[in-house]
Amino acid sequence: MTQIFCVANQKGGVGKTTTTVNLAASLAAQKQRVLLVDLDPQGNATMGSGVDKQSLTNTVYQVLLGEAVASDTIVRSEEAGYDVLPANRDLAGAEVDLVGFERRERRLREALAPVTKKYDFILIDCPPALSLLTLNGLCAAHGVVIPMQCEYFALEGLSDLVNTIKQVHANLNRDLKIIGLLRVMFDPRITLQQQVSEQLKQHFGDKVFNTVIPRNVRLAEAPSYGLPGVVFDRNSRGAQAYTQFGTEMIKQTQARTGTGAL
Ligand code: ADP
Ligand code: MG
Repeated sequence: MTQIFCVANQKGGVGKTTTTVNLAASLAAQKQRVLLVDLDPQGNATMGSGVDKQSLTNTVYQVLLGEAVASDTIVRSEEAGYDVLPANRDLAGAEVDLVGFERRERRLREALAPVTKKYDFILIDCPPALSLLTLNGLCAAHGVVIPMQCEYFALEGLSDLVNTIKQVHANLNRDLKIIGLLRVMFDPRITLQQQVSEQLKQHFGDKVFNTVIPRNVRLAEAPSYGLPGVVFDRNSRGAQAYTQFGTEMIKQTQARTGTGAL
């Protein structure tokens, strides 16, 4: 069965897009069929997958509005090894344009339904807000992956996100659960980061992924080449960590769904 995950955190700059593109590339390298859905008007995941956001006639925006269908809008990123439902600045208008629609939080879910079976994993890169776009992501997904930096205020922001996920679970999407918290941009030399990491494990137990993503400049450089870090420099520490994260995700999914093969 296709696994649909949102990568969400209402804070900006916490590593959502880096996690989405690199997890997508890592899963693709491990023979999984992957679709990345860019739900951020900044279009960083689109560009970071090697798709030129300026040159697109249709994007996820037209799909959400019902002016285009997903199958015609999805593009293939050969270098990255996965498909992309791209976004650009058009998407910034979606919040307002969808106001008059019924079931407006389910637009993405309904739009993805015809293509879902083609993929093992669908990863949705959410914008940095608990907005209607993020809500569309949460309604379309089975689970949420939360990237976070181990900083003091990280835990505070987390409770808002966890509450939103609980509300969506209760009212809109009974399938939704937290898949896990991913520690990113980690620097073990910083005592505070170690302390926050320990607190996270105490509080969230096995919801904290074993894989830890280090701060690594190669991951930050990769988007300017239009490539996920995993493809750009697969021997870098950052790429190796995301490769390991992909493996952890596949194993966890197999354990959860009881399948030997996906
Ligand atoms: P978000 O999508 O949550 O806004 P990004 O993934 O765009 O966050 O990351 C914010 C910035 O941090 C980007 O410049 C990105 O290249 C950089 N970055 C993300 N993860 C790492 C990492 N593990 N090591 C170094 N830089 C990182
Ligand atoms: Mg982003």
